[in-house]
Amino acid sequence: MFDTGDHVHNAFSWIATRMHFLARTMFPPFCVGCGNPGQWICETCTPKILIPAQEECMVCRAYSSKFKTHVSCRATSPLDRVVSCWKYNDHAKRVMHRFKYSYRYDLAQELAKNAIPYLLPYLSRNTVFVPVPSTRSRDAKRGFNQSSMLAKELARWSSRGVVKNLLSRKETTTHQAGSSRSERLELDAEQFNFTACDLPKTAALVLVDDVCTTGATLSACARKLTEEGFTNVSAVALFRGAQRSRFSTQPPLPRKID
Ligand SMILES: [Zn+2]
Ligand SMILES: [Zn+2]
Repeated sequence: MFDTGDHVHNAFSWIATRMHFLARTMFPPFCVGCGNPGQWICETCTPKILIPAQEECMVCRAYSSKFKTHVSCRATSPLDRVVSCWKYNDHAKRVMHRFKYSYRYDLAQELAKNAIPYLLPYLSRNTVFVPVPSTRSRDAKRGFNQSSMLAKELARWSSRGVVKNLLSRKETTTHQAGSSRSERLELDAEQFNFTACDLPKTAALVLVDDVCTTGATLSACARKLTEEGFTNVSAVALFRGAQRSRFSTQPPLPRKID
């Protein structure tokens, strides 16, 4: 006998939890690098899969000590800093592919545990993790939200707080072509809804995402939170993707060599 729940969301959670359990029981982890059983990233393969990301400003991507956003770049993003743990290389892409499409909660646990030594120096005692939301329909399709899982695990491994539903993402997004840059920045923040909470406005909010490429989504979430009065917003991403134009939705064109 099981409770199907009144809400579709509860039903999805119920299914997702059992999918994780089933996957873990029937298919124990094996290393993404060498295939050996036991862990998703074995100790031998760790140095080639988890390569530390360089300290840089998330806006201009020039060097910046401790990942701080340059003062001159703060007009583009309200984020204090975006701490990235590792480079998003081909091995890392395989890890993330497995994470997103295999219902593997144990992989989130392993990634969060590995990330903590990188992140701990940047966390204050009153840090509260806030996952970057995706739309409800996307979560339903995938069965879970990977940022939410990561935020929960980061909070657990670091003994910090987590607020899972502070932000939600609207189903429809406004087409951005033709808008001015300032209009686009405003529209970015409008993609998100804020749910009222009793957190103090001075809480050290740390947005969590799996991969940061342009930083546009993290910046939009941060803008929404600062609009709501929060004064201390930074972000962490497990992986830092290769550089792309900030608002491009297209992959970069191959460079022509004559
Ligand atoms: Zn291995
Ligand atoms: Zn900069």
